[in-house]
Amino acid sequence: MREFRVYDTLSRELRTFRPITPPRVGLFVCGLTPYAEAHVGHGRVAVVFDVVARALTAWGYRPLYVQNVTNVDDRLIERAAAEGTDPLALAERHMAGWLQAMEELGVRSVNYYPRATDYIPEIIAQVAALVDRGFAYVARDGSVYFDVGRFPDYGRLSGQRVEALRPGARLEVDPRKRAPEDFVLWKAAVPGEPSWPSPWGPGRPGWHIEDTAITGRLLGPRYDLHGGGVDLKFPHHEAEIAQAEGASGERPFVNYWMHVGLVEMGGTKMSKSIGNVYPLRQALDEYGPWVVRFYYLNAHYRSPLGFQGSETLDESREAYRRLAAPREAIRRARARDAGSRERDLPAGVAAGAEALVDRLDAHLADDFHTREVIAELFGWGRTVTELLASPSGASLSDDALDTLERPYEWAQRMLGLWPETPPVLVGEADASAVIEAAIAARARARARGDYAEADRIRHDLERAGITLEDRGNETTWQSNREDAGRRP
Ligand SMILES: [Zn+2]
Repeated sequence: MREFRVYDTLSRELRTFRPITPPRVGLFVCGLTPYAEAHVGHGRVAVVFDVVARALTAWGYRPLYVQNVTNVDDRLIERAAAEGTDPLALAERHMAGWLQAMEELGVRSVNYYPRATDYIPEIIAQVAALVDRGFAYVARDGSVYFDVGRFPDYGRLSGQRVEALRPGARLEVDPRKRAPEDFVLWKAAVPGEPSWPSPWGPGRPGWHIEDTAITGRLLGPRYDLHGGGVDLKFPHHEAEIAQAEGASGERPFVNYWMHVGLVEMGGTKMSKSIGNVYPLRQALDEYGPWVVRFYYLNAHYRSPLGFQGSETLDESREAYRRLAAPREAIRRARARDAGSRERDLPAGVAAGAEALVDRLDAHLADDFHTREVIAELFGWGRTVTELLASPSGASLSDDALDTLERPYEWAQRMLGLWPETPPVLVGEADASAVIEAAIAARARARARGDYAEADRIRHDLERAGITLEDRGNETTWQSNREDAGRRP
């Protein structure tokens, strides 16, 4: 296992990563509340942690990567009521769009997307443990609140002082609470809203409790790495620490906290509630997934990332084309008759490729500096372009071209900057769902006139033993594999 360092938000320092039970790594990232279409801000967290999971795997760790889905929530209930639909159905509709976007973006490292409503028994058990241990109290209406005064560490992650939250500050006084900073674990049922029976009467979970109930079940009372957007530090992640450590009596709940900077549009966080959003779907349709992925990774994950709509994506497309062009030139050089190509690389260039791959790996192992990786790849691209354009460039051997391509291969495995082959069927993914998603991605590529991408998807599927047939607007598929239809 390769040693690496990560900036831990709780201790506010770069720390060498040591798993609790190597090589296993429990990784949890706060997922969506799918009450509306995902925007460009959501995609950043997903792509950043996809790189973390890819790197962990390449370095010899075995991550188990869980991302929750908040499918019961005030905003979902409101939105569903306005549309005259069921909140769970609304959540699933948006989740289908999200999973499609993830498939297109090459984010396949998440092993499991648990829905909050599938973990109601675990949630109730955790709330009950908090009541039993004196960390929570039951209000007259049957709601249950966490008693923040019982947990002296509350505020340590975010550096917030509880006093700052006293009345007169931000929180309105709720007569059911003992103190304004107390937060709800279980909300007493409101007629017409989804609810489940509990020891305190019918109700539904508060937002914070689902994460710790789910991870308690899937990853244990303590696990390695928790990620999310920096805006979740307070109060969400503070609440998670208080709940988990309060309920289990074990600490620390999480060994390393990683927070991703915000995508900012017009100087503030891209947010549905502010209205400054650019749909992820639109970005993928107009620019293709690799430009979007490049945009996210061409910055350090902790920095805020500016976004000015199509202007930003136009710039990213230009830069991405420059990054990709030397790699394509290597591939074109390979297509020339091998019989006339037997020249080796100049000695310095071959050694340079090896040294570069080591440096790229070191950048990633130093708190995931993807921007440095990309900067080095641009530099390598200049070397490659110059060499291929030189008189000896046309006669380089396959071995020589392999060496030139090595840094790109490394970048592909770790950062996933180019289309990859074939769709990887991992975790609990149902094979047919992945294939249907790929077909839908191909239809979208054709609709935006990106026939190269459409052909790429068809070829990927063919390599995986899946044949497509187009009839008018409809595409059907057939598997030539023995294990067709079975789970991987
Ligand atoms: Zn969360």
